[in-house]
Amino acid sequence: MNTLNTTATAKLAKSQRAMSLARFQIGMKEKRRRWTLDARASFSPGDKRPCIVCGRYQSLAHAHHVFPLSIQFKTNLVISDRQFSELVDHGPEFVIVKEPDHEFVWMCPTHHEAAHEIIRALLANVQPDLDGMPAHERDAMQRISVRFVEKLVASGAIGAI
Ligand SMILES: [Zn+2]
Ligand SMILES: [Zn+2]
Repeated sequence: MNTLNTTATAKLAKSQRAMSLARFQIGMKEKRRRWTLDARASFSPGDKRPCIVCGRYQSLAHAHHVFPLSIQFKTNLVISDRQFSELVDHGPEFVIVKEPDHEFVWMCPTHHEAAHEIIRALLANVQPDLDGMPAHERDAMQRISVRFVEKLVASGAIGAI
């Protein structure tokens, strides 16, 4: 094979690689969408309860996943580079995603927002902005955050998302 052909072959291999990676990513997006829909469909928290932090706003409460589903999906996908390259060749149907973890707490909209602010801050390794929140509420928030971190650590994905 002359040099020109070798270069052309290498270029072709590279663009085929890019194509299969793009196909894989599109497939994973669809897999994520379906997994999340199925997870939501399999989740039945029952009757609303007062907020676990402030004990109020029962009728407005949201069921908050201690380990949010969007993060669960990502932590399910922690794989080595070698495995990743094999998966790209085989396609998204070979990626095994765990069953959703539905541990949840009822939270009023304000404390729910605070729970996600804490999770955002934990993942970004910065201090959460909880200005104006009373100390006893922060303690209750802290307990829920600890539970989140325990689950994140148990998933083996810490530092990977
Ligand atoms: Zn509340
Ligand atoms: Zn939530």
